[in-house]
Amino acid sequence: DSIANQIAAGEVIQRPSSVVKELVENSIDAGAEHIQIVIKDAGRTLITVIDDGKGMSPTDARMAFERHATSKIKSADDLFALTTMGFRGEALPSIAAISQVEVKSRREEDELGTLLLISGSRLEKQEFIACGAGTSISVKNIFYNVPARRKFLKSNETERRNIFNEIERIALVHPHLEFSLIENDEETLHLTKAGLKQRIAQLEGKNILQQLIDIEAETALGKIYGYVSRPEYAKKRNSSQFFFVNNRYIRHPYFHKAVTTAFEQLISSDEKPTYYIYFEVDPESLDVNIHPTKTEVKFENEQALWQILMVTVKESLGKFNAVPTI
Ligand code: ADP
Ligand code: MG
Repeated sequence: DSIANQIAAGEVIQRPSSVVKELVENSIDAGAEHIQIVIKDAGRTLITVIDDGKGMSPTDARMAFERHATSKIKSADDLFALTTMGFRGEALPSIAAISQVEVKSRREEDELGTLLLISGSRLEKQEFIACGAGTSISVKNIFYNVPARRKFLKSNETERRNIFNEIERIALVHPHLEFSLIENDEETLHLTKAGLKQRIAQLEGKNILQQLIDIEAETALGKIYGYVSRPEYAKKRNSSQFFFVNNRYIRHPYFHKAVTTAFEQLISSDEKPTYYIYFEVDPESLDVNIHPTKTEVKFENEQALWQILMVTVKESLGKFNAVPTI
């Protein structure tokens, strides 16, 4: 059973950044407004996520580590809707199977909170403790009992970059939440509550503010909105390129091509535009068979959306007179 648990865990948790993603998404689901992420050694020895969300009762906390003990499935459709974040009750049991977990959680209305210690899926301790309202989950020594997995991890620099990328993707769909990242006792990121444009500036630097061009299209196939950079900005730097669908980060090489095509048609060179593009579509129109860790998504009507995106970007670039004379 413990082997089965570890194998199942490998599906969900591939590296420290997967832990960060799952814990932070849970905090958001719990209504947190301020989320603090603490990591040591690029997440190898410690990942802690502390939130001010609704907390858990002692029973909730125990249940959260049982497989499929999600509190989030309201209907069968939810299983497939990308609007619901994350896995269905897989994340915490998977994390607990391959690490040493410490949970501290208290609901506002409870006098005492709960402390849980779980090691390789085994509950080692459960007791009442005094703690703040909200939840703190620490994940220590990831893959301590799965040497093959531990060996598979990349350099600290790569693993911390992965963690940063996950936080950035989440922060870009939750600009109204506060995030901080503490790495080896030093605060390396602090994002105060903001609007989307300000959140982009917090991540990219203030210089980007004058460079962002609004895009927006509302069609029967869904809504597309966000920002593309002016072409001049694209030229100067490595670009940040983000697509989100229903508030979830995706990679989409085909839609990427729509953006670059729009740029190329206007400035006839191969620039790397910066863009933050958000799709809102009916979840039913997305491929339901994708694995939740995969960032690739297939849309129905991809060709039509490609056209709409390309034309929208092109028109927005033109309208803002962003085209340099050659
Ligand atoms: P899922 O998110 O799909 O429900 P998880 O394994 O990630 O599955 O979490 C299991 C359950 O634990 C959640 O449904 C939620 O009830 C509870 N939970 C996890 N993290 C938190 C948190 N930070 N605050 C409050 N409840 C939480
Ligand atoms: Mg979850």
